[in-house]
Amino acid sequence: MTFNHVVQFLQTLAPLANLSPAEVTLLETPNHVHKAELHLNGKKYPAFRIQFNNARGPYKGGIRFHPEVNEDEVKSLAFWMTLKTAVADIPFGGGKGGVTIDPKSLSGKELEELSRAYVRAFRPYLGSSIDIPAPDVYTTGQIMAWMLDEYEQQAGHHDPGMITGKPLELGGSLVRDIATALGGVFVLEEAVQKLKFKGKRIAIQGFGNAGMNAAKLFADRGFTIVAVSDSKGGIYAQQGLPVDEVVTIKEKTGSVQNYPPGQKISNEELLTLNCDILIPSALSGVITEKNAHQVKAKIILELANGPTTPEADKILHQNKTLVLPDILANAGGVTVSYFEWVQNQSGYYWKEEEVRARLREKMKAAFNQLWSTWAGKKYDFRTATYIHAIQKVLAAEKLRGRV
Ligand code: GLU
Repeated sequence: MTFNHVVQFLQTLAPLANLSPAEVTLLETPNHVHKAELHLNGKKYPAFRIQFNNARGPYKGGIRFHPEVNEDEVKSLAFWMTLKTAVADIPFGGGKGGVTIDPKSLSGKELEELSRAYVRAFRPYLGSSIDIPAPDVYTTGQIMAWMLDEYEQQAGHHDPGMITGKPLELGGSLVRDIATALGGVFVLEEAVQKLKFKGKRIAIQGFGNAGMNAAKLFADRGFTIVAVSDSKGGIYAQQGLPVDEVVTIKEKTGSVQNYPPGQKISNEELLTLNCDILIPSALSGVITEKNAHQVKAKIILELANGPTTPEADKILHQNKTLVLPDILANAGGVTVSYFEWVQNQSGYYWKEEEVRARLREKMKAAFNQLWSTWAGKKYDFRTATYIHAIQKVLAAEKLRGRV
């Protein structure tokens, strides 16, 4: 997803949401683009922190370490975080960070050095009431711990709310580890109820934090997981996969494909399998105009960021497939990040049941609000979600007198 897509998308939405040219300009302009070069072992790696919009609260969003990270992508993701925090109705704006590096090529010590260097480079712009990073692609709780430590050493005081997704010992929240998947479960449960949908067969693309936890949570709730995949490929079993066994195989051998009874399939085949619910949980841009016609699922729950292209969206809408869009479907992660921050600010920590109940309440409320605004509209549910989010951001901007 490039920033050009964001600009095009705002042009398309402008007439539907009655946006003035000044409002469009405001929405497509990030507040700050911070760049640095991080030095590690004599080499330099480009690093970014893009603070897109803070009208509704401090900037919020993850940091990714990936060889393909670039300014344009980080800017797009920072824009989407602005809308995601609005949809989730949490008092944050949107930001994103990244380093162009392959973290798999680094030793633990090097990864720590890189994480600390990132914080040193951007420290003046971070803080619990300024900009609050979190994990994203290939960044973990341990990385958040190093980043917190570096920040606090430099600042000379504790500020656990400056970063979320931390280990519990350093002020993390219970449930944060499974929050993206659990939030998706709550959204899907609401949608299923509204549609009186009976289908139970699920295919999941991606077996990282979101995909694997979604498989476990949905299996526990009586759904049949017919297919899962990871970057090496997927497996399919018509009668359903024993998720716990597949998780063990993945942990032991590195790929779900090593689960012998499963029929091997490719990541592309998984998307068009005979199933009721499709959950893309890995890469962006996987459902395209080329394969959208063959998608058989009637509901798509987007746990990945940006898995469906705009062209595919049109086809899915025509085929009456309901797409539960990323900024709603995967907002459970940032919502529990918000709960983590609230607990850090008050220094009082909640029980697991309380975090789960509050997440459920937030996700249900977000879904139902969008469902009622969508009623009777000609456009798809994603468009309704985006318009709602944009209006919330603009309402805050107007009250501040910025537009
Ligand atoms: N990286 C996650 C996302 O894209 C979580 C962000 C956060 O918790 O701030 O939503």
